[in-house]
Amino acid sequence: MITPPSEHADEHLPEGAVVDGELLMRSIDDAFDVVVIGSGAAGATAAHALTEAGLSVAIVEEGPWMKTKDVASDVHTAFGRIMRQSGMQVLGGRAYMPMLQGRCVGGSTLVNSAIAWRIPEDVVDDWTARFGLGPSVSMKELEPHFDALERDLSVREVDAAVLGENNRLFVEQASKHGFEAAPMRRYDRGCKGSGLCLTGCPNGAKQGMSVTYVPWALAHGARIFTSCTALHVELSGSRAVGVRARSASGHLVTIHARHAVVVAASTIQSPNLLRRSGVRARALGRHFQAHPGLAMGALFPTTSRPIEMAFGATQGAESTHFRRTERFKLETISLPPDLAGARIPGVGRELSERLAQLAHVGVWAAQIRAEAEGVVKTGWGGADRVDFTMGKRDLEAARKACALIGRMFFEAGAREVWPGIYGVPSVLRSIDEVRLVENAPLEPRSYNFIATHLFGAARMGPDPRSSVVDLDFQVHGVDGLYVVDSSVFPTNLGVNPQHSIMAMSRLAAMRLARTCMSTRAIRRTRREAS
Ligand SMILES: Cc1cc2nc3c(=O)[nH]c(=O)nc-3n(C[C@H](O)[C@H](O)[C@H](O)COP(=O)(O)OP(=O)(O)OC[C@H]3O[C@@H](n4cnc5c(N)ncnc54)[C@H](O)[C@@H]3O)c2cc1C
Ligand code: SF4
Repeated sequence: MITPPSEHADEHLPEGAVVDGELLMRSIDDAFDVVVIGSGAAGATAAHALTEAGLSVAIVEEGPWMKTKDVASDVHTAFGRIMRQSGMQVLGGRAYMPMLQGRCVGGSTLVNSAIAWRIPEDVVDDWTARFGLGPSVSMKELEPHFDALERDLSVREVDAAVLGENNRLFVEQASKHGFEAAPMRRYDRGCKGSGLCLTGCPNGAKQGMSVTYVPWALAHGARIFTSCTALHVELSGSRAVGVRARSASGHLVTIHARHAVVVAASTIQSPNLLRRSGVRARALGRHFQAHPGLAMGALFPTTSRPIEMAFGATQGAESTHFRRTERFKLETISLPPDLAGARIPGVGRELSERLAQLAHVGVWAAQIRAEAEGVVKTGWGGADRVDFTMGKRDLEAARKACALIGRMFFEAGAREVWPGIYGVPSVLRSIDEVRLVENAPLEPRSYNFIATHLFGAARMGPDPRSSVVDLDFQVHGVDGLYVVDSSVFPTNLGVNPQHSIMAMSRLAAMRLARTCMSTRAIRRTRREAS
């Protein structure tokens, strides 16, 4: 049974359930059945499933708990508190690419757009055919978990009342253009269309982990150590026996794990945490993938119906029409003025005039299902480092997506389109000029990519020579050490990943719970017999 949801689920927490590492004045030494590292999509889901199964669970989370009542809507303040490196993290390689990750209770689910997509069947088939994951990870295994998540987290289509013009126009235009687009399905319990998902929902409507599975797990007896960074997993021989962490106040937090340690620190942090813990798999850090995204803006005439990005679900409409053929997915996105301003071309008077017409600016975007693979490394001082360079075919897909968005904008009546591609004029004024985008340079440094969907680097597979975790999510050769986030995904998906991450994590946690319960039963029988 889950605890009923509430707008204020993060306010009514059991006494002693939260240990705040910013306020901690002493070292801690404690023991639980399972220690979960990370409280984002993967960690919170696993912690909730494990507590529901009757296990005692500790969650170790590096970031603070940003409660709904404290959410700040200005980007600078919000990013400084809840984004990793205040949102300044980048992927390296031939071009720097900004990479956003939440670093707070709820992880990236606090700052994301709540779009829920089940893993496409062709991806699961590919995982079976090329990576040997079936039948352990199959549609049949995952479906009950998707069903449960959708019930728990209120997955539904964006309500027409809060769709907003940026989203509505996209759906209309796609249909005129001859392909299908639709309002998104999201984790939503009463979205008010404030367009503020990126800085955290001020209404408690977005069903991110900090207002759902984390408080629900605490209500079932779990404990969370916030602002505590897991330094490494403690191994005894080939068995994981606990986690060593340091609180933001500088104290050591040692948590012993009677049964297992579950790593859910996200695609970049999990592989490096395994490395710091002494895991030495050949595949560790390799095969990193992403869905680099790019957004394009357009200015509509002031005589037309205002777009008003400040109203409507932050991301409310999408099309997967080109996912398999062209390897991109189209989406809308409403940017807050602080971020939209940075993408508006021009300086001085020209810029001021465009800013004055912000109500008539629309932004549509594409997520590229890039084939490129990168490497997650540990850099100077233990910092996370990722080398990732988009290939020619990926850039061709990006260019095609941008040209399509440009054409759709003009057909919808835009006066100006802003491609944001180096080598192409910053302002296009007619549909004929879109051919300049079609011929844009195939050079990664020319595009304004941003990475928010991350995969791989601790791949799942039956063979320890080519993968890091086995088909039960356990690190090859290390008993009791599990990885349940998208670092275990053998490939990217072509759709937004949170839902698939949670379904995989829930599947892993329920299998682990069964193992723990039978171990418990065996120990009890032995005790009674002796
Ligand atoms: C701006 C943005 C928008 C997005 N929009 C969508 C969307 O609409 N739909 C969708 O499907 N996906 C979306 N995504 C992606 C999605 O949010 C992520 O794929 C998903 O949250 C990843 O889950 P995770 O549990 O692996 O990582 P996270 O959710 O990022 O959680 C990892 C947690 O682990 C913690 N952690 C890391 N290292 C340590 C350590 N050493 N010790 C303790 N804790 C640690 C982090 O602080 C973090 O809280 C978006 C992402 C971003 C950034
Ligand atoms: S659009 Fe606003 S109300 Fe809706 S989920 Fe996002 S932040 Fe919450």
